[in-house]
Amino acid sequence: MPAENIALKSTPYWWEAAPVAPLPEMPLERQVDVAIVGAGYAGLTAGMTLARAGRSVAIYDRQHPGEGASSRNGGITSGNIRLDHATLVKKFGQARADAIILEGKVARQHLYDMLSNEGIDCDFKLVGRFGGALGTNDYERMARQAEHLERTLGVESYAVPQSEQHKYIGTDFFRGGSVRMDIGGLHPAKLIAELLRVAQTAGAVVHSDTAVETIDREGEGFTLRTGRGTVKARQVLVCTNGYTDSATPWLRRRIVPVRSRIIATEPLAPELISRLMPRRMMLNDTRTLGFYFRLSPDGTRILFGGRDGSTLEDPSKPVAYLRRNLLEIFPELESTDITHSWYGNVAMHRDMIPRIFEKKGVHYATGFCGSGVVWAPWIGRKAAHKLLGSKDEAPSAFDFKPPAPIPLYNGKPWFMPFFMMKYRMDDRLKMRRAGR
Ligand SMILES: Cc1cc2nc3c(=O)[nH]c(=O)nc-3n(C[C@H](O)[C@H](O)[C@H](O)COP(=O)(O)OP(=O)(O)OC[C@H]3O[C@@H](n4cnc5c(N)ncnc54)[C@H](O)[C@@H]3O)c2cc1C
Repeated sequence: MPAENIALKSTPYWWEAAPVAPLPEMPLERQVDVAIVGAGYAGLTAGMTLARAGRSVAIYDRQHPGEGASSRNGGITSGNIRLDHATLVKKFGQARADAIILEGKVARQHLYDMLSNEGIDCDFKLVGRFGGALGTNDYERMARQAEHLERTLGVESYAVPQSEQHKYIGTDFFRGGSVRMDIGGLHPAKLIAELLRVAQTAGAVVHSDTAVETIDREGEGFTLRTGRGTVKARQVLVCTNGYTDSATPWLRRRIVPVRSRIIATEPLAPELISRLMPRRMMLNDTRTLGFYFRLSPDGTRILFGGRDGSTLEDPSKPVAYLRRNLLEIFPELESTDITHSWYGNVAMHRDMIPRIFEKKGVHYATGFCGSGVVWAPWIGRKAAHKLLGSKDEAPSAFDFKPPAPIPLYNGKPWFMPFFMMKYRMDDRLKMRRAGR
């Protein structure tokens, strides 16, 4: 049945097993060592680290904890860096570029260690990721990258020719692809629920439905005006990423929220699942507006995500667009119902590099470019150590000067439709060049 004809749930599929909920209201503290704005992966990981170091920490979220991107995402532990190594070298020099790439490996391992050390139950499985090639050139480039990844970082990674492809994905759409085994999948809403538990147990106080409205310097510290009263803090860390609002107008001019949307199919027959996703890997392709997809952790549904160029609430067009692309890869799903469709905001700095930075004494941890399952906990932790002035923690290659402002931009991404159009044209050209 076409997706636009059925009643779709517009809340994340993930919330059925792990609903995001308000916390019991607690009195607002008058004074804390550190105030954190935003209770997603970054804010909670930072809060846990700071509280364990003995700081009094309060975390404020204008929604329920995790109601931003952290309970809505695909749960793929990709840890992507948008820029390739050559571009990183050009922008930042050889040493910094190498350090950024290496830190990607460390950050992914940090997530896996944290899940195991903190006893975090979020259905994590290190199943590997298959990336599909659109044409022969694409395939050859991916094969070279896989070989490079294995040689330089020791990550198990290899090319899969088209003749072997059906062992990984039941489609003829791709022209082969590559696998890397350091990427897996988890249940994002279970992860945020568990991080909340760990942060609270560590001693961080978390307030839901408490918007920070302004942050003002006062002497050595800061005053935060919230919807529920005023708080004084010695230090402030902003972790608002794709939900950054008028509380931090300076940041708003430097970070672009971009909608990403996921659709979920109805439960599928086990034989069909075994044919379409025999290794239950995470999956993606190499288009600029590429798609990411996977099985639900219980192995019954396909979740299929991509950028959502719309700014309107009406989901029918973006859902139809995602479904069309799902069917292009898996024509067998023609009569499968779509049951859920939801979106959230990812966030990009102008140079597409996640980072920790400081401006006028306020610290920030933002810009995860749609790969925050790995980056947000890592950058959150590194930001916490920066606030602590930890001598034993290695400095991060992601500790940068602030991101550049975006010309003619004050927080409303009016230019997104033009970029989406351009990227779609680039992708069409890429497909044509690949003889598709
Ligand atoms: C549909 C979708 C799919 C994705 N898929 C993947 C994936 O498969 N793999 C991957 O690695 N990443 C993925 N991502 C990206 C990932 O989810 C994010 O990078 C990550 O969750 C960011 O975490 P965060 O803590 O920085 O921000 P968020 O979780 O977005 O939290 C920011 C919080 O700040 C709060 N806030 C904002 N302003 C204020 C204020 N003034 N006062 C108080 N609170 C405020 C918001 O309410 C929000 O809860 C996806 C994202 C989306 C939307």
